[in-house]
Amino acid sequence: MIDEKARTRFAPSPTGYLHVGGIRTAVFAWLVARQSGGQFVLRLEDTDKKREVEGSDKHLMESLRVLGLKYDEGPDIGGPFAPYRQSERLDNYKAWAQKLIDAGRAYADPYTAEEVQGFREEAQRNKQPFLYRNHRPENTQPWDGAKPLRFKSDPKPYKWHDTIMGDLSTGPEVIDDFILVKSDGYPTYNFAHIIDDAEMQITHIIRGQEFIASVPNYLNLYEALNIAPPIMATAPHVLGPDGKKKLSKRDGAKDVLDYVRDGFLPEVLVNFIVSLGWNDGTEQEIFTREELIQKFSLDRVQKSGAHFDERRLAWMNGAHIRQLNLDDLYKRTVGEGDKSQEIGVRNFWPEEARKQPDEYKKQVLALVQERLKYFAELPELTRFFFIDLPISPELISGNKQLNKFSGSELASMLEQAKHALEQSSFTVQDITDRLNQLLERTGQKPGVLFSLIRIATTQAPASPALAETLAILGKETALQRINRQLTAF
Ligand code: GLU
Repeated sequence: MIDEKARTRFAPSPTGYLHVGGIRTAVFAWLVARQSGGQFVLRLEDTDKKREVEGSDKHLMESLRVLGLKYDEGPDIGGPFAPYRQSERLDNYKAWAQKLIDAGRAYADPYTAEEVQGFREEAQRNKQPFLYRNHRPENTQPWDGAKPLRFKSDPKPYKWHDTIMGDLSTGPEVIDDFILVKSDGYPTYNFAHIIDDAEMQITHIIRGQEFIASVPNYLNLYEALNIAPPIMATAPHVLGPDGKKKLSKRDGAKDVLDYVRDGFLPEVLVNFIVSLGWNDGTEQEIFTREELIQKFSLDRVQKSGAHFDERRLAWMNGAHIRQLNLDDLYKRTVGEGDKSQEIGVRNFWPEEARKQPDEYKKQVLALVQERLKYFAELPELTRFFFIDLPISPELISGNKQLNKFSGSELASMLEQAKHALEQSSFTVQDITDRLNQLLERTGQKPGVLFSLIRIATTQAPASPALAETLAILGKETALQRINRQLTAF
């Protein structure tokens, strides 16, 4: 728990959508800001024009909004430190660059890309690590913006504390002269984030592991700029399903918004994302948003990579669905009740259910609530409640309990079931009683008799509890489907 008001930021580059690994630092930063009563800032780091993907800025903002990660300052809402897009802050970087030049701590890089490549190869031949500072030009030209501007580093050892990774240290050999401003006039991430974090009074930098190797160089630059570094917390990689490689778009990591479109609940996604590498020290896995805000702490985030497992996400979502009351749950299945519909979250019910009354669908929902993991499963689980599915002989031929019987044996069993159900008043209780009497009379196992009735009345590979299913289908439909099956033997 952080006592002082924290100002945290999420600083994505608009280069595409966010997957669960990419948005995790946003969730951490949001939690730290909320629990301390501070602010969460969104800053778009759009200084690499080659990598920019059009429209991804909006997409990123939508992802945060849909997950309920409301930011207090950002490009679309402004704030005391606007603008929040780096491409609109170029004058600020120039002013700070000038300070470094004036202090003799930055110089125009005179070399062509080929020359730098030559130095690199030379170092390789001599089995030396390549350091740009070994080639620092003696007489530098004034910087006219046509060449990159480099930081003149001051190599020294560093010791620092990372809230997640603990105490870290490096020697002077990792410190080098890096580019501050590129020849296209845009600053590098290495320079711009330091300026922005300082100007925006950010207290905590929470970011991914890919930046940790550069931290000593950042510390060197902070010193040259006379800026006190914020608290740093480095979140380890989220590993893909194989548990080895970093989760990445190339390996099919999905857009978080696609999970919402498939009917995963935004609050579960947040819960799941936080649980990638964090727990509160107990066995608890399902947390409400308020509990997360209260209990989350950066120093309980694991140092080693967290493992992304989609089945665990589905399990968590199912557990949440079971806890929702029926009216809430129903609203969500028809695309109401949260911000989801704005991103194209639709009505999840099968097409055939559209004209059915809400009450009927609610009864069906109550029945499948127990096994529903995410809403996109609804059509498969419920279609037979709304239309007669075609007879599927393979449901019987592929059923180990049933394929031992001949067609006429099955027909005679189903005839008996039909008579029993004809007598029934079709309440769940009455259907249950009659089915049990039928078991006794025929001496058949439930696995045989009930599977047969289930297949005949649903034509689906799986269905919820039989008596409940029959009661919802109603007597007429159930008997008519049994008759249809009887003609197929
Ligand atoms: N723009 C960087 C990225 O997209 C942000 C890193 C940071 O949080 O400082 O990875």
